[in-house]
Amino acid sequence: MDDAGWPKPYRIKVVEPIRLPEREERERLLRAAGYNVFNLASDDVYVDLLTDSGTGAMSQAQWGALMEGDEAYAGSRSFARFLETVRGITGFPHVLPTHQGRGAENVLFSTVVRRGDVVPSNAHFDTTRAHVLANGGRPVDLPTPEALDPDLDRPFKGDMDLAALEALLCDPPGRIPIVMLTVTNNTTAGQPVSMTNVRAVGDLAHRHGIPLFLDACRYAENCFFVREREPGYGNADPREIAGELFALADGCTMSAKKDGLGNIGGFLALRDRTLYEKCREKLILVEGFPTYGGLAGRDLAALAVGLEEALDLRYLRDRIGQVRWLGERLREAGIPVYWPPGGHAVYVNAGRLLPHIPREAFPGQALVCALYLEGGIRAVEVGSAMLGPQARLELVRLAIPRRTYTQEHLAAVVEALCRIRDKAREVPRLRLVEGEGPLRHFVARFEPIV
Ligand SMILES: *Cc1c(COP(=O)(O)O)cnc(C)c1O
Repeated sequence: MDDAGWPKPYRIKVVEPIRLPEREERERLLRAAGYNVFNLASDDVYVDLLTDSGTGAMSQAQWGALMEGDEAYAGSRSFARFLETVRGITGFPHVLPTHQGRGAENVLFSTVVRRGDVVPSNAHFDTTRAHVLANGGRPVDLPTPEALDPDLDRPFKGDMDLAALEALLCDPPGRIPIVMLTVTNNTTAGQPVSMTNVRAVGDLAHRHGIPLFLDACRYAENCFFVREREPGYGNADPREIAGELFALADGCTMSAKKDGLGNIGGFLALRDRTLYEKCREKLILVEGFPTYGGLAGRDLAALAVGLEEALDLRYLRDRIGQVRWLGERLREAGIPVYWPPGGHAVYVNAGRLLPHIPREAFPGQALVCALYLEGGIRAVEVGSAMLGPQARLELVRLAIPRRTYTQEHLAAVVEALCRIRDKAREVPRLRLVEGEGPLRHFVARFEPIV
């Protein structure tokens, strides 16, 4: 056992060199990147916590499966294995592979959403929101009020607000083709959704004749939290909990770059045959033939293994434990973090750590820059730079890639944040010099106000 208290369920067999550039070099690189870490080369980053999407390490079993991938255009055995795995976990009979999560969203939303429709969710992820909008629909977020309080310690801050959903369903401002639930709720600090909430949302939706779809990217992490926090699930196998979760829904979209433990891939899984046939037609047009859907046979083979590994209790305990360890160390050090830590990331409350920086001068982005200067660490702002004036909190997300970094790497993150805490007042405010629109954070350029 290490200090975090869980036995590490793997050791390292292949290593990828990384380096920490010298301080002056980091200053120069950040300046050249326009104070936007999306513009940095990954070779110039020491600990990369930009995202947990597709950035994890595959297991020896996955690399082995990759070699056995069947690249046949139609009817490949890798697809057969993938199909069997997804059916086994979800219970959904119809499965369409896609190149990643947004491929599944494109196929589903372009099939079910029409102009003027309304699509409720506990909180839409950026890409689901964008797909609803692209099809003329209106995405509506219905998080519980407790999700907006960054200090309130509650077990399921990812839940949907049931009263708000009921009000919407009883007096809909447009047709509601589906209800979505994101598990865990990425947009709300990676917080889990309780099984009680999934059941209640499903009941409400079904009573109005509307299907429930899960945005299931991090469903295995959600099942771990249910096991840990929801009465009645204490000894349940994550796989059993997953079976119960998917049984409450009519379908799901999935990015296998998350709980598929892959570097690429996704799928759309459905219960209804007619909807499946419509989606299959769309899939052939935009992703590929239904037995590969934009993926190589070897990717499907590796995902079939990864999907099983992600439900292993030892894996999940290590995964969630690592994120929690980082959150707890930061909190002990007096660094304000969204509480409790979510499944895949710790969110630092930059607004509170850097109170001298007003929202217009981007406290989150300023902290992202300080993290790179101080420790070569790459994080992402989730605040006014990303969301504009509707940002409710100024957060910085530290997303932890799966099975990739050791506790020493995470300790370096804690140390860098402690150094920033000690000289917080010296962190400069920023001015936006380039970039507009809802996706500006990817391309924006800033400069420090000195
Ligand atoms: C990553 C993600 C998606 C989109 O998946 P991609 O594989 O990036 O296209 C959708 N929803 C949630 C909750 C996600 O985290």
